[in-house]
Amino acid sequence: LAERIDAEAGKPAQTRDGHAITLLINAGLSAQSEEFLASDAKGIGLYRTEIPFMLRDRFPSESEQIALYKRIFKAQPNAEVTLRTLDVGGDKPLPYFPIIEENPFLGWRGVRMTLDHPEIFLVQVRAMLQASIGLKNLQIMLPMVTSVSEVIEAKRLIGQAFHEVSEEAKLQGNTLYQPRVGIMLEVPSVLYQLPQLAKLVDFFSVGSNDLTQYLLAVDRNNPRVAELFTSYHPAVLSALNSIAKQCRAMGVPVTVCGEFAGEPGGALLLMAMGFTKLSMSAHNLRKIKWVMRNIVLTDAQAVLEHALQADTHLQVLESTNFYLESRG
Ligand code: PEP
Ligand code: MG
Repeated sequence: LAERIDAEAGKPAQTRDGHAITLLINAGLSAQSEEFLASDAKGIGLYRTEIPFMLRDRFPSESEQIALYKRIFKAQPNAEVTLRTLDVGGDKPLPYFPIIEENPFLGWRGVRMTLDHPEIFLVQVRAMLQASIGLKNLQIMLPMVTSVSEVIEAKRLIGQAFHEVSEEAKLQGNTLYQPRVGIMLEVPSVLYQLPQLAKLVDFFSVGSNDLTQYLLAVDRNNPRVAELFTSYHPAVLSALNSIAKQCRAMGVPVTVCGEFAGEPGGALLLMAMGFTKLSMSAHNLRKIKWVMRNIVLTDAQAVLEHALQADTHLQVLESTNFYLESRG
């Protein structure tokens, strides 16, 4: 099987019946991604900037961050590069910025923290913009958005940083291009405000890990409830399907960047819903491409119809696995 998967390198990412899917990678340290980018991925769908922050003993300075982000653009000067602003808190602590809370997953994480510390946010966004001078492929993504007001405030700060960096660039005879700005869909409240949010952003990206955690009220890292944590839950599938439908109707670009996109059954169901961009860990990419190249989209849609009618995640798993096995 491994050999058959390796043989997929370089082949087009499309289903048997010719539906193309854009495969992107999730990264957090540039080195790990470069070799995969060269062959199979069309860019970075999620760069988790908190990972390099977590490996240090203090906040990286603006120039340190510029150097870091430049390395990513150097590997990917043309393909899309989605840099997510700092998503600390929850299960991702910074050793030098302790956050002690009783319910960290419901607490001060993602944009909630960085909007309370605009100096941290501005330095980071400035560094992203500096690193992208002369390039047109920067996408800035906001994690853990709950409300429209957070997006408005974050965009105001991004606008301020853009103005500053753009003036500096001009003095040096360089051009800073507008980044595209998007948000993660991972807090359930946003599912009910997609039209309002769509007016403010250029793209959405579904974080199926947190969306599953918050829809099911199941801690994604707690082994005691690990069996309850599943994106195959029919309620989660229904939420994902609704996102796909609404985004298609509104014409808003949407990616799925949670782990579900890197699982064969997950990718199958997401493609059937109509998601055409999937971002995943580099080590899953070829496997998913192989799955995709062996399925027929209309069959996948039938599997999805069945899954959406199912009572339990076990029934969903049974029908997705049955179909995947039938395809080899
Ligand atoms: C997610 O929540 O699905 C996601 C991609 O972000 P993270 O795993 O970094 O929270
Ligand atoms: Mg998340």
